[in-house]
Amino acid sequence: MIDSPWEYAPAPESREIANLKPSYRMFVDGEFVDGGGEPLKSINPATEELLAEVSSASESDVDTAVRAARRAFDGTWSTMPGRERAKYLFRIARLIQERARELAVLESLDNGKPIKESRDADIPTAAAHFFHHAGWADKLGYAGYGPDPRPLGVAGQVIPWNFPLLMLAWKIAPALACGNTVVLKPAETTPLTALVFAEICQQAGLPPGVVNILPGAGDIGAALVAHPGVDKVAFTGSTEVGKQIQRSVAGSGKKLTLELGGKAANIVFDDAPLDQAVEGIVNGIFFNQGHVCCAGSRLLVQESIADELLEKLRIRVRTLRVGDPLDKNTDVGAINSAEQLGKITELAASGDAEGAERWTSPCPLPEKGFFFSPTVFSGVHQSMRIAREEIFGPVLSVLTFRTPAEAIAKANNTPYGLSAGIWTEKGSRILWAAQQLRAGVVWANTFNRFDPTAPFGGYQESGFGREGGRAGLEAYLDV
Ligand code: NAP
Ligand code: MG
Repeated sequence: MIDSPWEYAPAPESREIANLKPSYRMFVDGEFVDGGGEPLKSINPATEELLAEVSSASESDVDTAVRAARRAFDGTWSTMPGRERAKYLFRIARLIQERARELAVLESLDNGKPIKESRDADIPTAAAHFFHHAGWADKLGYAGYGPDPRPLGVAGQVIPWNFPLLMLAWKIAPALACGNTVVLKPAETTPLTALVFAEICQQAGLPPGVVNILPGAGDIGAALVAHPGVDKVAFTGSTEVGKQIQRSVAGSGKKLTLELGGKAANIVFDDAPLDQAVEGIVNGIFFNQGHVCCAGSRLLVQESIADELLEKLRIRVRTLRVGDPLDKNTDVGAINSAEQLGKITELAASGDAEGAERWTSPCPLPEKGFFFSPTVFSGVHQSMRIAREEIFGPVLSVLTFRTPAEAIAKANNTPYGLSAGIWTEKGSRILWAAQQLRAGVVWANTFNRFDPTAPFGGYQESGFGREGGRAGLEAYLDV
């Protein structure tokens, strides 16, 4: 199986489907307009070619957008009956489904993720978030927050580049369902699907100002969260920026949720079904090039099975195809930016320097673009940077343990606490471990499962507040 002669013929999805335009404009008060900032250039990280110019916001555009959102909140959205708001959310969900292929190809072009992931995970899950929250809009009185919970007002939302449309959906769907209006800043390197989403808002006939999209760099995110007209701040991104935002809104009375970084432990006990665990480990760290906040980036293996598991893992990882994100056979696509590739390279080098043993998949890499081969470090100790810091790339750090108690102690020895995985045949051990693990999500004999009904969020430096499910509504209601 290792040296199988299997070759896959290229199966590229057509980039024509993306309907790429040479330039995109920001979306304020129901119109596409030019921003006052320096235009951004969005590139394809798999080829380094320019995809489109995107007009970006200035600080005064932030003010204009927040005012538009306030007028929409006072004038229509907050007073509209929930059953009417729900219709708009349903329409948006169906339009995402109708334009799913276009959105998937555009997302893969802009972000570098494999088309099979944007097509089968990002876009359908984004639609699912709108469907789920459409169902809540007229039932908020039954959500456990009182008979008539009120919205907060204008939500200022800032999202990262790893799941551009999906993170937008996680933010915008609950905000709108609860009766809030939104100003959202997408990440600098991945603004395109957010602007197609703005077209979808127009198509759905959403009242002007309910959703505003402001492309821009970090300074525009900072201006948005600090704007006095914003009532609620929702941020997904790095712990470092999350801390800055927490400082900036302190004492303002703004409600805040932070979804930050992670360094999840994926724990394999000696009774685990190993082949199944290998699939879960691969999915946990190589899905989306490892650009996943809840990635299973620390593998904790019981010592007695470590050699066998690592051998199986290497055999499996060798079969991952790295390359053209638009090829339907690609498993691992491009790293989103030269900057991120630099961070991954630097942290991996620290693993070498600190004495871990590096194994790299022998897969060929494309000559152009930003790529990093799937990498597994074994012999990792708790003190090493690759065990403590978030790499946010296709790099797995493997540690071992002897007893279940040691596994839990090591898993919890992190400033983060977003997710964790457990692999074992014993149900009692799953329940025991899940209670001990200080992580917002604990997966058992699976990994990276997302569902709009399930709340997602962190402990400690992974942030606070929940997104999704009934618990996620609280972040957008005055309770
Ligand atoms: P980042 O640098 O924190 O950026 C996230 C967003 O914040 C981007 O839109 C960014 O704009 C903006 N931003 C930068 N500086 C800002 C400031 N001072 N004030 C307000 N906004 C600012 O994070 P990243 O490196 O792009 O994303 C990776 C991180 O996100 C990882 O740590 C990952 O774990 C975390 N993440 C967490 C979750 C979760 O749900 N917990 C999900 C996905 C990612 P620019 O694009 O211009 O930089
Ligand atoms: Mg891009």
